[in-house]
Amino acid sequence: MTVFCLVELESGAVADASLRALTLARGLGPVAAVAFAPPADLPVAELAAYGVSDVYAVAADGYAPRAWAWAIANLVPGWPDAFPEGPAGRRPAVLAAGTDRGNEVLAHLGAIIGLPMAANCVAAAPAPGGGLELVRQRWAGLLLEDAVLDAPVALLTAATDAVAAVPADAPGPVMVHAVKSELSPADLMMRAEEAPAAAGGASLATARVVVGGGRGVGSADGFAPLEELASLLGGVVGVSRVVTSEGWRPHTQQVGQTGTKITPDLYLACGISGAIQHIAGCAGAKHIVAINTDASAPMMARADYAVIGDLHQVLPALIEALRAR
Ligand SMILES: Cc1cc2nc3c(=O)[nH]c(=O)nc-3n(C[C@H](O)[C@H](O)[C@H](O)COP(=O)(O)OP(=O)(O)OC[C@H]3O[C@@H](n4cnc5c(N)ncnc54)[C@H](O)[C@@H]3O)c2cc1C
Repeated sequence: MTVFCLVELESGAVADASLRALTLARGLGPVAAVAFAPPADLPVAELAAYGVSDVYAVAADGYAPRAWAWAIANLVPGWPDAFPEGPAGRRPAVLAAGTDRGNEVLAHLGAIIGLPMAANCVAAAPAPGGGLELVRQRWAGLLLEDAVLDAPVALLTAATDAVAAVPADAPGPVMVHAVKSELSPADLMMRAEEAPAAAGGASLATARVVVGGGRGVGSADGFAPLEELASLLGGVVGVSRVVTSEGWRPHTQQVGQTGTKITPDLYLACGISGAIQHIAGCAGAKHIVAINTDASAPMMARADYAVIGDLHQVLPALIEALRAR
């Protein structure tokens, strides 16, 4: 039975979080990607490399969660008349990345087709009696829950920081299907304008480099060197909750339990103590470098490399060294 996977695109490529979702989807059956872009804009070679056999290119005007969910609902086989039961463990499934968009669209889809949705899964496998055995993150990843999703169509999102993106062993050809979804005005009532692309075109959730700033930065103006460093490294700025509470930076840049989970190759944490709620958002970073005046700050114990020093001195020196290269 086909596994549908909502694929988010970023700067013309498949978003890293969606590559992870495709990897999880592949373990459940043949994968059909659903992308909200014209066929000509699809990164077909990348989709093929991740084992996608079909792509549904849905015509869309920006991001409208309910409209996207309806478009996917119309692709689910048998809906709305009946769900094919299929043999045990071979029921249809719809996956998405556990991003804001992925979770939102699948929650709408669950409401439309009247089925439960399991968010932030790190593993999924057919259960012996049908349905899916899942492991999923709770409490921002501090706990892992074993669950069985017993539904005629499994709806799930893949945790953005816990499933590795792995290309398929034997990629095959990809068939592209152009889809025009019939929508009512109500489906488009909520529509998001695209945010201007951040430096390097990457979002916080998928950036390869994140320069993080905490209370130690000291003020809104203090973020200028962090912005400069992020742009030199092709990354974006992320912040702690103190920084958003102080109004120095917007909540969209917050890393952590109540912010965004990041999975960069490098997280440079400047003036951030490393509270557990912050670590919940950056534990998926491949490498952490911390700059802090306090050698005993918890972030120092988490870091691969640590600089004990004042970030107002260390960052300008780092920027100068990078510029010199
Ligand atoms: C329910 C709940 C949810 C939360 N969710 C989040 C979340 O999503 N994300 C999040 O970040 N927090 C979250 N928090 C808040 C969290 O507990 C911490 O309060 C917060 O992360 C601390 O931010 P900070 O590290 O910037 O500040 P602090 O803890 O005050 O640390 C500042 C650090 O900067 C260092 N420093 C000071 N001056 C300098 C300097 N000149 N150079 C270098 N280092 C310097 C200090 O030594 C210190 O280690 C949450 C809390 C709760 C209760």
